Amino acid sequence: MGDKCKQCKGGRFASISAKSSDRNSGQVDGVDFEGYVPDNIGIGGGDYIWVEWCLDCGQIVGAFPAAVVYEDDYDSYDNGGHPDNFGDR
Ligand SMILES: [Zn+2]
Repeated sequence: MGDKCKQCKGGRFASISAKSSDRNSGQVDGVDFEGYVPDNIGIGGGDYIWVEWCLDCGQIVGAFPAAVVYEDDYDSYDNGGHPDNFGDR
């Protein structure tokens, strides 16, 4: 890594990857979802949850603010699909 935390300038990070496939449920910006990991909420996408964060302050490493998520996008997850045009990563 060698990077510094944007928030606290610390240099200690942790990350975790979890293959949760389509067994996720949660809420994004007030919208419930079930199925695969949404691609544009900064924690991975598709089959995998992937998160990296600062061990000093808890700041999540990633591109934020995340793109707006629309309810219609979740319909394709309910169908077991993996939309290609779900938004920018
Ligand atoms: Zn930090």
